[in-house]
Amino acid sequence: MAARIIDGTKIASEIRAEVAAEARDMAASAMRPGLAVVLVGHHPASAVYVRGKVKACEEVGIYSETHTPPETISTEELRALIADLNRREEIDGILVQLPLPPQVDSKQVLMTVDPDKDIDGFHPMNVGFLATGRPGLVPCTPAGIMEILERSHIPIGGQEAVVVGRSDIVGKPTAMLLTNRNATVTICHSKTRDLPGVCRRADILVAAIGRAGMISRDFVKAGAVVVDVGMNTVTDQTEFDRLFRGDSKRREIFQTKGSTLVGDVHPEVAEVAGWLTPVPGGVGPLTIAMLMANTVKAAKTRRGVRMLSRA
Ligand code: NAP
Repeated sequence: MAARIIDGTKIASEIRAEVAAEARDMAASAMRPGLAVVLVGHHPASAVYVRGKVKACEEVGIYSETHTPPETISTEELRALIADLNRREEIDGILVQLPLPPQVDSKQVLMTVDPDKDIDGFHPMNVGFLATGRPGLVPCTPAGIMEILERSHIPIGGQEAVVVGRSDIVGKPTAMLLTNRNATVTICHSKTRDLPGVCRRADILVAAIGRAGMISRDFVKAGAVVVDVGMNTVTDQTEFDRLFRGDSKRREIFQTKGSTLVGDVHPEVAEVAGWLTPVPGGVGPLTIAMLMANTVKAAKTRRGVRMLSRA
């Protein structure tokens, strides 16, 4: 039986509506949540992402501002800009768009962000909170994956989960969230032996690799939930044919645009899996929705604490 396709766009729009209602309530109490985005230099792909984030902010009623320091900025100058944003009361979330130029020490910069405003959840303090199962700000894509599972009523506790990929941004935090929800979790990477065999154990398989269509049907147990985090652009005709032979709709897009967006999961997995997130329209929309949700969460936590301390 064909897998049920999970509509990430629909789930993301539910979350955005909830966030918009919360932002409206806060704005009515003169506490409109605020996000500052830092975009260094001229990086066309980053500029597109930032525009998407700013637009999403406007839609849900979050105040946003974008800072665009030059490509030549030093680590210290960037840290000074962030320290200034840390001090500003109306800014609840700070997002430093990666990658940063090579002369900048990215880790130092990310450590400068006030953990209470760290809506990407990259600060070691938030990583520590996640690792120890305490409340904090959680990276957006992993948080979005959990929303997908929960809102699709997929059981997590006691399930075998396999996460392929161990990045600090996706793989590791996803594994920690699943562990905190009582899944039995295995993390795989490029040195894992018998990757297909390990993946076939999974009731929940998360692919965060960055290799177009690598997870083929041999990696998937019948009926498994497959979450495809990958976002790969395919421009090569042979690669396209390997992935989408017989898919006339995709072929039309590919021929018009010269490229198509592909996940880490081969489309044939839809014939084996029980549930599958598509690319596009799966995890991707959740990432931005969770950024908005994290900004409102940071605003509520910060300003709630301030109100209590005033009481
Ligand atoms: P990353 O930092 O490059 O990490 C990739 C991971 O995959 C690494 O742990 C690597 O193993 C592992 N890997 C690579 N080749 C492998 C192989 N042949 N077999 C097994 N494991 C392999 O990537 P990332 O930032 O986590 O992103 C992963 C994918 O998700 C990318 O396609 C990215 O574009 C996408 N992404 C999507 C969203 C979204 O919103 N949908 C957000 C973030 C990322 P090693 O550690 O051993 O090198």
